Amino acid sequence: MQSIALGIAGASQGLGGSVEAARTPEIGERPRQAEGITVLNPRIRVPVSLIIDDSTCLVNLAHFAIPQFKEVFPESYRQPWKTLPREIPDSFVRQFAEWCHLHGVKGKYSLIPYPACVGWLDRFLPGWSKRELEQSLELVRTLLPADWDFHPEGISHTWVINTKTGRPYSERSARFLENLRWSDRKSVDQLTDYFSYPLRILKNVGIRCNGITMPGTFGSRVKPELAQAVLQSCRDIFQVEIPHYFLDGFTDDRSVAPQVYYASGLDGPDPRCVVSILSCTDDWFGGWDGLKPGSVDKCIAADLKGGRLPEVIGRGEPAILLCHWPGMYYNGEEIGFKIFKEIVRRLDSAFDNLLWMKLSEITRYWAAKELTRIERSGSKIIFHAPFACPDFTLRITSRSILKPQVSVKGVLSPLRRATSPSHLDSGSWYPSGKAIVMCLDIPKGKSQINLVAE
Ligand SMILES: [Zn+2]
Repeated sequence: MQSIALGIAGASQGLGGSVEAARTPEIGERPRQAEGITVLNPRIRVPVSLIIDDSTCLVNLAHFAIPQFKEVFPESYRQPWKTLPREIPDSFVRQFAEWCHLHGVKGKYSLIPYPACVGWLDRFLPGWSKRELEQSLELVRTLLPADWDFHPEGISHTWVINTKTGRPYSERSARFLENLRWSDRKSVDQLTDYFSYPLRILKNVGIRCNGITMPGTFGSRVKPELAQAVLQSCRDIFQVEIPHYFLDGFTDDRSVAPQVYYASGLDGPDPRCVVSILSCTDDWFGGWDGLKPGSVDKCIAADLKGGRLPEVIGRGEPAILLCHWPGMYYNGEEIGFKIFKEIVRRLDSAFDNLLWMKLSEITRYWAAKELTRIERSGSKIIFHAPFACPDFTLRITSRSILKPQVSVKGVLSPLRRATSPSHLDSGSWYPSGKAIVMCLDIPKGKSQINLVAE
């Protein structure tokens, strides 16, 4: 059982030992991909992304959640919550989002719809005027979608809500905290109902969600049911083509590549799958309560070699960082944000092969990478893609240098030859030893490439 102090965090490092936790979702269908063809990272770069948990409009979740957690675990939550600000102001949202946009940073931003039971994002927030809530929502809707996916993260992130009445249950125990044990032994239908509720609230205020973040360890004992419920609820409420979710993170040597589950109907009109996104760090910014300063060096050391990110980037796996919004704001000191800025500065100095992506973009790429059927017949490469995918990048072995041409309805158009691997982008290729590497946007359905001698 993981420590209570971590109970609010999105990731569930350290969880283990129980038989239930060992159950894993099914991967479902996997198509054949012709020998000698390997799908690489997009544009042979390494995806990077930032997961922001515990964010919402205006409400500083830590201030309001701590006394609720303390009710169940009086010894574990001794933070001076009354001295924490009750608000994380929109001016900070704006400053953060503008800085990230300028530096190309992308990721996921949670919007807890009934944060710590303070108020409803689609009704009103006691303590703030209706106008302040509307302005905050408008800021989120206009400033963030270019670079950030939106997720709900539970309904309240504290007490479990009875979805029939909209009220918290009367029992005040770990069984009725969202981030702890309520999800144990729940069915796909029960979890789908629980996820649909916050998705609908966000839909009411014009915020589209492509995925769901689990509050704390929600769902960690019912991973197969959880994955299916995310797939079902995101499709029901938002018709999301490829839903994704965030529950787990690993900081050891396990793979942190996205996991594509429950793939089905790949050759038909309604292909489906769901993707689990894994973080590769714990919160090394400012913690979930904004009281524990993190460490730049744990992510990337001053020598630009040490730390977790160079290790993951070196393996070529997506380097997805985890932070919590109260820790980024850090009660106005912005310690988490300052740490993040320095991490981005060091990453820019150390690497020229990174690609910041939203979680939904990483999701789409990994679904296409694993689920596109690829046939090779003579000089033809044929893709059967259940999902369209930009920047689809492949290595194709061949004895001689062969120029790829896209074939659309029998008309061939050649791809550009990139001047160097670092210039590879969509519609280009370059020779690489006994292979060529090429990058193109593949459409949903069938498409074809012809290889011709140079
Ligand atoms: Zn959280």
